[in-house]
Parts: sequence; C-alpha cells; structure tokens
Amino acid sequence: MRLSTITNWAYGATVALTLASGTTMLLASHVEEEERAAVAQRAVFDQLTATLEEDVYRLSEQARGFVVTGNPSHMIAYRRERAALRTVEDRVRHLKDAGASLAELQALQQALYWADALLDEQDAALKAAQQDQDATARAILFGDEYGREMDRVASQVAKFQYMLDQRTDQAVARATETSRLWRTMSEVMLGVTALLFLCVLYFILKQRILHPVVRLSDVVTRLAAQDYAAIPPDLRQVDEIGDMAQAIRVFRENGLERQKLEQERERDRASRDLLSRMTQRLQGCDTMRDLAEVVRRFTPEIAPLFAGRLYVQDSRSGLMQQVCAWGQPTLSRADFPPSACWALRRGQPHRPAGTAIDIPCDHLDGVPDAATLCMPLIAQGESIGLLYLERAEHASTDDVVRTEKYIEMVGENIGLALANLRLRDALREMAMADALTGLANRRHFDEVLSYQVEQAERQRSPLSCLMIDIDHFKHFNDEFGHDAGDAVLQAVGRVLGKALREKGNAFRLGGEEFVLMMPGFGPEQALERAAQVQQELRDLRVDHRGKPLGPITASFGLAAFPDHGPADRLLRTADAALLRAKREGRDRIVVAAARDGAASEAA
Ligand code: GH3
Ligand code: MG
Ligand code: MG
Repeated sequence: MRLSTITNWAYGATVALTLASGTTMLLASHVEEEERAAVAQRAVFDQLTATLEEDVYRLSEQARGFVVTGNPSHMIAYRRERAALRTVEDRVRHLKDAGASLAELQALQQALYWADALLDEQDAALKAAQQDQDATARAILFGDEYGREMDRVASQVAKFQYMLDQRTDQAVARATETSRLWRTMSEVMLGVTALLFLCVLYFILKQRILHPVVRLSDVVTRLAAQDYAAIPPDLRQVDEIGDMAQAIRVFRENGLERQKLEQERERDRASRDLLSRMTQRLQGCDTMRDLAEVVRRFTPEIAPLFAGRLYVQDSRSGLMQQVCAWGQPTLSRADFPPSACWALRRGQPHRPAGTAIDIPCDHLDGVPDAATLCMPLIAQGESIGLLYLERAEHASTDDVVRTEKYIEMVGENIGLALANLRLRDALREMAMADALTGLANRRHFDEVLSYQVEQAERQRSPLSCLMIDIDHFKHFNDEFGHDAGDAVLQAVGRVLGKALREKGNAFRLGGEEFVLMMPGFGPEQALERAAQVQQELRDLRVDHRGKPLGPITASFGLAAFPDHGPADRLLRTADAALLRAKREGRDRIVVAAARDGAASEAA
C-alpha cells in the first residue's frame, strides 16, 4: 500500500474517532446540564414552599395580634401579607409547568387547601373581632382546630418537599450515571485514537522508513568502500526513500562502470607491460630455443583465452614446423606446407570463427567449432613463420576482440625477432664459415674444440682429432696458378665435408691445413676413418681449365683422448704427429704416441 494511502486512512480514522469522542463529551456535559437544571428546579420549589409555609404563619401571627391587641397596624400588615400569599399561590399553581409531578402537585394542592381553610378561619375571626366578638375570634384563632389545620399545612409542605427530594435525587443520580458513561466512552475513544496514531506512526517509521533507511545506509557504506557487490534494495515506493534507492542504484551503476574502466585500463597496462618485457626478451634471444621459450611463457599471459602454437619455416624442407605450443591446442598439425594455411598464402591474418562462413585452413584437423586465428609472421615481405591461436570455449566475443590487438602486436614482435635471429644466424654462419671451401673456419673450430674437449672430459668419452696438410701445395699454385690451388682446396674440402656422418666437424684451419674432429672415436676407429680419407684424396682428380692438376696427397696427424694425453692438448698433439708425418716423407698417417702429448705439454 502506498504511504499516502496509509496516511489518509489513518487520518480519516483519527478524525472519526476524535469526532465521536467529542460528541460523547458533549453528551456528557449535556447530561450534567440536566443535572444542574434538576437541582435548580428543586431550589425554586424549596423556596416557594418555604415562603408558603412562612406566610401562613405570619398571617396567623398578624391575625392573632389584631384579635388580641385590636391594633389596626396588624390589620394593615395582615392585608399586605395576604396579597403576597396570593401571588405565591399563583406560582405554586403553575408548578406543573415547571416539571412537578402529579403526586407532588396533589400534596401541594392539599397544603394550599389547608392554607385556604386557615385563611377562611382568619377571615371569620377578624370579622368577629371587628364586631367586638373577641371571645369568638380568639376561640377560632387559638382553638385546637386552627392549630391542627396549621400542622396539616406544615405536614403537606413537608410531604411535598420529601417527594421533591426523592425525585431530584433520582434525576441527579441518573444524570450522574449517564454522564459517567459518556465520559468513559469518550476516554476509550481518545485512547483508541492515540493507539491508532501510535500504530500508524510505528508502521510508517519502522516498516516504511527505518527498515529501508537501515538497508540503504548499509549499502551506501559498502559502496563508499568500493564494494560494488552491495546491491541496493529494490524499493519501488514512490516517496523520498524510493528516490534515494534509485539515486543509490544510479551511483552504483556509475561506480561499476568506472571500476570496469579502471580494470580495463589496468589490464591494458599489465598487457602492455608484459608485451614490452616480451619484446625485450625476444631481442635478447640468441637461438630458436630461447625464442620458443619466450613465446611459450609470455603469449599465454598476454592472451590467456587462447591456446596456440608457434611455427617457423624450416629452411631445408620448407615446411612450417612447430617450435613451441601452449594451452593444449587440439586442431592444428605439428608441421605442414605453407600452402596449407590461408594466412600464409594471403600474407594476412585469417580467422574463421565458429559457424561464420569462411574457409578453414588445411592444417587444421577437421572443421573447427571454436574460432581459430592464424597470424603470419612476416619479415621483409616474406612469411617466415606463423602464430596459430585457438580460442578457449568460455571466451566471450568481447574478450577476444580486446585480446586480438595484443595478439597482433605479439605477432609483429615475434616476426621481428625471428627475422633478427635469421639475420644473426646468417651473419654467424658467414663469420664461422670458410668462404672458399664452405667448411667451418678456424674461429668456429676453436669454439667447437673447447666444447668437445669439455664434453669428453666430463663424460670421459673418447675424442679424436685428425690434422690434415696437403703435401707440396705450393707446387699447384706455382705451376697452375692461384685459381688452380683454390680448386684443389675446394675439392679437398668437399671430401673432408663428407668424411663424417655428423656434419659440421670438418674445419679449414687456414691455407691448406684442415682438421676433422671425431667425437666418440677411439684411436683405432679414427685411424680407420683417416685411412679412408687418405685414399679418397689420393683418388681425387681435379681439372683446372681443362688441364688435370695431377695427384693430390696429404699428410695426417692423429691424436686421441684419453690415449694420447689430456683433451686440452689434443690439437697440439695431433699437430706434432702431423709434423712427424711430414718429416717422415709425407703422404702418410702418423698416430701420436703418448710421448707426443707429453712433448706438446712440455712445449
Ligand atoms: P708441405 O708439403 O711442406 O706442406 O709444403 P707446402 O707447399 O704444402 O707448404 P707451404 O707452407 O710451403 O706452402 C703453402 C702455400 O699455400 C703458401 C701459400 O701461398 C699457399 N696458400 C695459402 N692459402 C692459399 C689459398 O687460399 N689459395 C691458394 N691458391 N694458395 C694458398
Ligand atoms: Mg702447410
Ligand atoms: Mg702443405
């Protein structure tokens, strides 16, 4: 019920009760008025009857005075009193009109009758006295009969007054009772009015004001502490409290909106922070492994709603190969040709989303339910890798839209880092490779040697080192020219490059000196391989400008760890053996003796 309705009803009831209470009060006072009227009437009657009785006595006295003294002043006073008595009689006769009952009037009539009889006696006595019959007059006025008649008048007046007293007392008692009744009713109604007023006040104050205000105050306190989980009560009442609740609701909605914006800003700041750290780490990557690790750790933090894989194009096979994955993607294969991906074909992000009509890439197994995103990693206009992402099922479209801009930045950064890595690899390869033969150069050899020596010492595994020096190489230069010498070096480089199954262990140290590193080879196995190489070199036929350059031979010095001394002296030991091979007539293999190692150590 509306507050105004309740108030109106309460007001109406209060007014009705107050009117009723007022009416009963008026009734009570009316009854009191009646009571007062009865008492006043009685006073009038009392006075009249008292006057009647008194006058009868005074007349008797005057009449008796005249009879006894013969003084005419008594006669004058008698006549005056007698005139006065007449008016009293008249008034007594009219008492019926003033409310006297029939029985009362009869008593009064009787009194008047006896009073009239007394007057007749007085008249007779006075007449006798005037005729000088004093004895007769005295006999009348002082006789027993006269005395009895006076008593009768007195007794009738007393009777009347008694009846009057009875009636008046009854009327007063009745009026008092009625008045008390009305007064009690009036008090009860006043009490009910007060109670009703208090009830309404209680209801309005407690139910409609106090309760909602307490609840609103609780909500306001929590909202002030930025606890937006506090929900304002749904007070639909059209009053000040309803307005307050509405205002608090608006305040909360604004607060929520502001909080959402702040959270978004905070998330954006955190994402950008992560992105900048990822970029820094990517710039510091030396190897593909480093790069894969950075991508695997950072990408799921920046785009937590996506699982994904990073593909890099393998330079030899040309296939896109996965280098890392996160969040357990299920759809895309671990490797595939670039033509299987629409993003790589078009050089633009490709995002077939769920039921939306688009072409899913061929590297996906089946038609994806979830949205996928292929982001090509482009460097100098060339696609060198692919960032593949699968949206988590619970991700909303809003989340995805918000995250995609970061994914684009991640893609750009990874692309740049990949391009850097490639460039660096190319430079390193150039720095480490010998331009003429394509074998690794001296610098690379030093790196590999120290690594292999460390490995061999740690794992106590054998390591052999074969030094090769072309015999009388100067002769090729001198006889056929420098280019011919280069051709010989290239041919020898090819033979050495293929001498071991494991690539990258043949080196050109400089001039016409080469080394074969043979990790895991003991002296016998290494000697066997050295003999094969020696034979292959002997079999080499190199032509230069149509001219055969003649047979090529070389001298070999072989040293093995741990047989021929410490690992870190391996190269010197092999060199010493090579020196011996030269001295002993060239075109031979000399295996170092333990003393070579000792000698090289001494050197
Ligand atoms: P030995 O049998 O004692 O090893 O005699 P050798 O002639 O092979 O050795 P030597 O040290 O006397 O001569 C090496 C020559 O190799 C000297 C240098 O001019 C030549 N040479 C060094 N580097 C190159 C190169 O890159 N190309 C060509 N064509 N010649 C080179
Ligand atoms: Mg030499
Ligand atoms: Mg030589």
